[in-house]
Amino acid sequence: MSNRPALPAEIARRRTFAIISHPDAGKTTLTEKFLLYGGAIQMAGQVRAKGEARRTRSDFMQMEKDRGISVSASAMSFDYQKFRFNLVDTPGHSDFSEDTYRTLTAVDAAIMVIDGAKGVESQTQKLFEVCRMRDLPILTFCNKMDRESRDTFDIIDEIQENLAIDVTPASWPIGMGRDFLGCYDLLRDRLELMDRADRNKVAESVKIEGLDDPKLAEHIPAGMLATLREEVEMARALLPPLDIDAMHEGTMTPIWFGSAINSFGVRELMDGIGVYGPEPQPTPAEPRQIAPEESKVSGFVFKVQANMDPKHRDRVAFVRMSSGHFERGMKLTHVRSKKPMAISNPVLFLASDRELAEEAWAGDIIGIPNHGQLRIGDTLTEGEMLKVTGIPSFAPELLQTVRAGDPMKAKHLEKALMQFAEEGAAKVFKPAFGSGFIVGVVGALQFEVLASRIEQEYGLPVRFDASQFTSARWVSGPKAKVEAFIAANKQHISYDNDGDVVYMTRLQWDIDRVGRDHPDIALTATKEMM
Ligand code: GDP
Repeated sequence: MSNRPALPAEIARRRTFAIISHPDAGKTTLTEKFLLYGGAIQMAGQVRAKGEARRTRSDFMQMEKDRGISVSASAMSFDYQKFRFNLVDTPGHSDFSEDTYRTLTAVDAAIMVIDGAKGVESQTQKLFEVCRMRDLPILTFCNKMDRESRDTFDIIDEIQENLAIDVTPASWPIGMGRDFLGCYDLLRDRLELMDRADRNKVAESVKIEGLDDPKLAEHIPAGMLATLREEVEMARALLPPLDIDAMHEGTMTPIWFGSAINSFGVRELMDGIGVYGPEPQPTPAEPRQIAPEESKVSGFVFKVQANMDPKHRDRVAFVRMSSGHFERGMKLTHVRSKKPMAISNPVLFLASDRELAEEAWAGDIIGIPNHGQLRIGDTLTEGEMLKVTGIPSFAPELLQTVRAGDPMKAKHLEKALMQFAEEGAAKVFKPAFGSGFIVGVVGALQFEVLASRIEQEYGLPVRFDASQFTSARWVSGPKAKVEAFIAANKQHISYDNDGDVVYMTRLQWDIDRVGRDHPDIALTATKEMM
C-alpha cells in the first residue's frame, strides 16, 4: 500500500470508516463527539438514542427521529481539520452480521471501541473477525477510562491474545477511575488533561519536552508521575512502535485511551484517523481492480434501504464511490443491466442535514433514490464493464415459512418479501414443490424485525412458522448436471429471489451425500451478489 501513487488532494483527504463495538461500549457517544468536533452538531446530547429500537434499526435513524431533522440512515460525512470523514454506520446487533459484513466492504478502516473495564467482548470479537477477512486497518479506542478499568498492560495483552493483532499504544492513561487525569500522548510527546467539570470541553493539552520535562510535575502528583514514567518505559520496551504499513495491512492496531462521554481522547483519535488512517483504497473488481485516482467515475452498491420515507415507495441505494470525481446529473452505466442511468438527485449525508450531492469523490458515500433498479453488489461506471467483487451473500442459518394473516393478501406479501430480499434484509426462497415462501435469516431477531416491518410498511400481519428445512445451499455446476440434479431432488429445491437454484435440507448428511453422489455439483454457503 505504501507504494501507491499520490492521490488527488480531494481524494487523499477522505477517510471512510465504520465503528465496531460491543453494545454499550460507547459507539453512540463516540459518534456524537465526532460530530461535535466535526462541527456537525452544536451541542453534545443532541443525538442520544434511547431504547431497544436503535439496536434493531440504524442508530442514525433513531438520531434522525430524536433530532427531528433528517440526518441519514447509514452514512454521515463531516469535515475535521483538513479531512473529510465519512462515517458509515454498522448495525449494532449480532443478528445483522451479513449486513455488517457488506457495510465493511464500503470502508477503508474501522474504529474498534472497547470498554476499559470489560476488554474484548463477544461482539467485538465477531466484528473484528469480519474486519480481518478483509484485512481492514483497525484503530482502537479504549473507552470509559473515567471508571475503574483494567490494568493498561492487561487490556493490551488481551487484545493481542484474543484478536491476534499487534497493539501499539498511541497514548498512555494516567491513573484510572476517580483518579484518571488524562493521557500522555506517545506519538506527539504531549500531556492531555481531562476536564471533569465540563464534559463537552476539549481537553487541555500541555506541550512538554518528553517524560523528563519538569513541567510534568506541575500537573501530575509525584506518585502517579513515577508510575507513568515506569509504565511508559516498559511499554516502549515491550510493545512495538507504530508501524504505519503494518497498521494499513491490518496486522497492527494503535490504541488510544479516553472517555467519550467526557470528550476526552476523542480528538487524539480523530487526529490519528486523519494522519495515519488510510486514504481511499482500490476496490477489488473483475476483470481488474479499480484505483481511486482513476479519472473515470465508478462506485458500487453496498446497501439498499427501502421505505425510508413511508409516503413514497422508493429506495435509497448506498453507493461507495470507488474512483473519480462524480458530479450531479452524470449518466453512469448500470453494469448489471448495461443500461445508462442519469444520477440526477443523489444525496450526500452531511451530518448537519441531508443534501443533494453536487459532487462526490472516491471514498465518499452517496445515496441514490431509485425504484428498485439498484441492488446490493451492483456496479456503476462510466461505461466500462467492471464488476465489483467481494460482496457476498451468506446462506441463512435460520429458515421459516411465512404466510399472510389474510390469505387473500398473498400477492402483497410476495411483493413485500421481494423488496426486503433486495434490500438484503432476508433471503426469500420459493420452493419448487408446493406453495408459499421460505424466509431465511442469519439471526432470529431478524424474523421479528421483518414481521413488524411487513406489518408497518405494508399493512400486512404475517405469521412465521418453523420450516421443515434448516439449511440452504446454492447449487452450481454444468447446466445439464444441475438440471438432472433438480429433477432428482425436487422436494429439496427452491429458487432464491434472483432465481438461483438452492438445495434445502435439515440434515448435514444430505449435503455430504450430494458431495459423494454428484461430484459435478457444488453446494456452497455463500454466493457473490450479481
Ligand atoms: P453503544 O451501545 O456502544 O452505542 O454505547 P453508548 O454510547 O450508548 O454508551 C453506553 C453507556 O455508556 C451510556 O450510558 C453512556 O452514557 C455510557 N458511556 C459512554 N462513554 C462513557 C465514558 O467515557 N465513561 C462512562 N463512565 N460512561 C460512558
